[in-house]
Amino acid sequence: MCAVGSGPADLQTFEFPTTQPGETIARAVEFFRASAPVAAVGIACFGPIDPNPGSPTFGYITSTPKQDWRNCDFAGAVGRALGVPIAFDTDVNAAALAEFRWGAGRGLGSFIYVTVGSGIGGGAMLDGRLLHGRSHPEMGHVRTPHDRLRDPFPGNCPYHGDCLEGLAAALAVEARWGRPGKLLPDGHAAWDLEAEYLALGIVSWTCTLAPERIILGGGVMEREELLPKIKARVAELLNGYMEPPDLVPPELGRRAGVLGAIAMANDLPR
Ligand code: ZN
Repeated sequence: MCAVGSGPADLQTFEFPTTQPGETIARAVEFFRASAPVAAVGIACFGPIDPNPGSPTFGYITSTPKQDWRNCDFAGAVGRALGVPIAFDTDVNAAALAEFRWGAGRGLGSFIYVTVGSGIGGGAMLDGRLLHGRSHPEMGHVRTPHDRLRDPFPGNCPYHGDCLEGLAAALAVEARWGRPGKLLPDGHAAWDLEAEYLALGIVSWTCTLAPERIILGGGVMEREELLPKIKARVAELLNGYMEPPDLVPPELGRRAGVLGAIAMANDLPR
């Protein structure tokens, strides 16, 4: 998705599928050239990426499972084509930033934004800053207790097998049950298992960062029975030792990524 604007009030979006890097980047550049003069571009990208402006590979997508995009100089290609400054971060970090500025993270000193879709990712904001560390967190790849008697599915993360993403992302749900989660009915055993895995991830992140709130977005979380199940299981697993974080849905929905990219571009030094 591409968008121009300065925030939610004047956002204009344009959607097209992500294909090969050359074709995808060309379509994005064409969209921006056809729009009003663009002062800066923010790119909210699937990862892993190099988001460190001082690094020689800043703006590259690095070790992604998407073969064609591996070692792609995404920010460089867009920056050279448009001749404007580029901000570059993960899609989930961008969404966290957008929720902080305009959505469910407003006014909070600490929160995590998590998306549960075809993959699982998380971005943490502490005192108004995104947590980057060496590159960016990969919260979806935490190791998760896996009871193979209850769930014989081996997990499908290409890097780790049964990490959280390999057990609980939409692609794992589909591989385990033989059809996409959208086609599984309410009350199906899939949702208790999904709540269990997501609760385990939430407990790990809570014990590590003690966030006030965790915003849970992504297509899988649109299943309404999940959030109450997750809340109950998180409270059980924490067992009174720590206060559970508020667990809430996002406020910006599918626009969070592009709004975050706009926030990143707005924050570039002028
Ligand atoms: Zn993994």
